[in-house]
Amino acid sequence: MTPLARILIERIRETGPITVADYMTECLLHPVHGYYTTREPFGAAGDFTTAPEISQMFGELVGLAVAQAWLDRGSPAPFVLAELGPGRGTLMADLLRASRGVPGFHSAARVTLVEASPRLRAVQAATLSGQAPAWVDRIEDLPQAPLFLIANEFLDALPIRQFQRNPEGWHERLVGLRDGALAFGLSAVLPQVPETPAFHHAAEGALVEDNLPARQAVAAVAHRIARHGGAAYWIDYGGWRSGGDTLQALRRHAPDDPLAHPGEADLTAHVDFEPLVALAPAFAYDTQGAVLTRLGIDARADRLARGLGGARLESHRAAHRRLTHAEEMGSLFKVLAVTSAGAPPPPGFA
Ligand code: SAH
Repeated sequence: MTPLARILIERIRETGPITVADYMTECLLHPVHGYYTTREPFGAAGDFTTAPEISQMFGELVGLAVAQAWLDRGSPAPFVLAELGPGRGTLMADLLRASRGVPGFHSAARVTLVEASPRLRAVQAATLSGQAPAWVDRIEDLPQAPLFLIANEFLDALPIRQFQRNPEGWHERLVGLRDGALAFGLSAVLPQVPETPAFHHAAEGALVEDNLPARQAVAAVAHRIARHGGAAYWIDYGGWRSGGDTLQALRRHAPDDPLAHPGEADLTAHVDFEPLVALAPAFAYDTQGAVLTRLGIDARADRLARGLGGARLESHRAAHRRLTHAEEMGSLFKVLAVTSAGAPPPPGFA
């Protein structure tokens, strides 16, 4: 049993079952035993790999898209260049390297990172040591200025709640105890549930998820963009409306029971984009494969391949395929761009 499992069992014994959102929050961000607080989960030695860690091409192309969006909006200066949940800082580092040649972009950018984990903040500081980034705790704390923002696999790490529609009404799925171990159960019938389309359309027996912090994050960014201008790229795995239980645990690159190793496995859920776009003044939405292709990943991959041979060339080709192919990350991952009303479609979208 993990140390955090002991703490949670004691808490549930004393005060009763907790929501899936509370469980996720404790597992990911508990100050002593949380997954993001205690470890650096990315890469071959960790539990999962993300697009910027797979290939430098990801951050380069996203970076040039953001720089082009900034040019398209009249090169406002100064502006906030923000990232939510930067992990090791690789995406921002690749973005900044690729955009070096864009006149005025770097001197106007106030690089600001929203990161909850002190440990990952230190890793980001090392990766971005030449760039003097600033950190804030919340989106609301970003400086008031035009905002150009990226977030890769941020929304999927935010805590979801789960609800089940039974003949007698809606229940919330809770984490409680069975025979002294953590186990899922259901609350009493609820007087009300969130008002997103998935709830309106749920059939009897359906399990429906709600990611309130994701809705709040997109709303806060959309509010800034409506007020000051800018553009935001959200990249995440999921779909328009997933349906069903999508809570998943990954430990050492293998699926794990979400209740088995609290604090020692990564917990995420599919992102439903339908309730998020309702909050944007204007948006564009497509698969990661389609967006990266429009941004020119094939030409960039060929260019990089020229300097490579043998095993390095093979792994470069594999990374290209992994990011774009429909059977890999290409269609499971989606890109949502949020822009101001009346703005032209952002780079990467038709
Ligand atoms: N974007 C990175 C890392 C994704 S993992 C990549 O693509 O590799 C999720 C990141 O979000 C981690 O950096 C984690 O510490 C951070 N995070 C999770 N919940 C957060 C919250 N509530 N506020 C700020 N950062 C959070």
